[in-house]
Amino acid sequence: CGIFAYVNYGVPTQQKAIVDKLLNGLRRLEYRGYDSAGIAVDNGPTVDQLSPVVLKETGKIDELQKHIEGRAAELHGDLYFENHCGIGHTRWATHGPPAPKNSHPHTSDVANEFLVVHNGIITNHGALKAMLEKKGYAFESDTDTEVIPKLTKFLFDKFAPRRITFRQLVMEVVRQLHGAFALIFKSTHYPGELVAAKRGSPLLLGIVEEKKTSVSVVTSEGYRTSNAGDNDADEAPDAKRRKNAPRKQHLEFYFASDASAMVEHTKRVLHLEDDDVAHLHDGGYGIYRMERSAEVERTVETLKMEL
Ligand code: GLU
Repeated sequence: CGIFAYVNYGVPTQQKAIVDKLLNGLRRLEYRGYDSAGIAVDNGPTVDQLSPVVLKETGKIDELQKHIEGRAAELHGDLYFENHCGIGHTRWATHGPPAPKNSHPHTSDVANEFLVVHNGIITNHGALKAMLEKKGYAFESDTDTEVIPKLTKFLFDKFAPRRITFRQLVMEVVRQLHGAFALIFKSTHYPGELVAAKRGSPLLLGIVEEKKTSVSVVTSEGYRTSNAGDNDADEAPDAKRRKNAPRKQHLEFYFASDASAMVEHTKRVLHLEDDDVAHLHDGGYGIYRMERSAEVERTVETLKMEL
């Protein structure tokens, strides 16, 4: 019932500190109610040999923390990571009982090529699961969510020859989903990138800049209506990507289901709207519309609340 993610572009951070940040973020979301929790972070043995590790447990965040401490031997807590994408989730079970296998993040395969955290319900998971099982995918959980990472892997393999962007891939996935969702995708095929999508469930992007002037942020609200004969919609993404690219090295991003988990880190937030897709990569971010795949401008707001 809660999502929390942390990305540190150009900010070397030890794995154990990243884990703590994720756990603390999830604790701030506890009041929303949940029966289990989980996180995914990259693991060593060295930063050149990354393999994501998924850590999940039923019960309170304290139980998850104990579980993580129990697995310390396979983690590399002292290793510094930069451009790292950590994701976390508290689950309020809708499909399948509370159990470690039903907790999020859910995965595409044993190598964790695609990892997904999800709030909400995928109403057409039955049909998607039947389709994927026919293609040879084996499911481990009883959740509606597990079809999402499996479908992502299926489409990634299908599109592989033309190597689509992570954002395009997620849009292809989300187009197949019915129901309500806030989603975050992490992938070994797109290191240093996160893609989030939402429809019906809340999701905020929080931005921490070393200096307020370090990034030109988008300032006007809404998205452009394209004029006939105007190819701005095609040109805009590249132009914007440059505009959103960091001028400074130090830039951190958070995703959270609500502002209470964000405010201790930053007050500069952007509320994702239904059918928005947010893409973090190369130290910057872009917000895109599902229906047109076009980049849009969203106001970065300043939260009024205090801790
Ligand atoms: N429907 C998903 C599940 O049962 C997500 C539930 C939630 O929002 O936490 O795992």
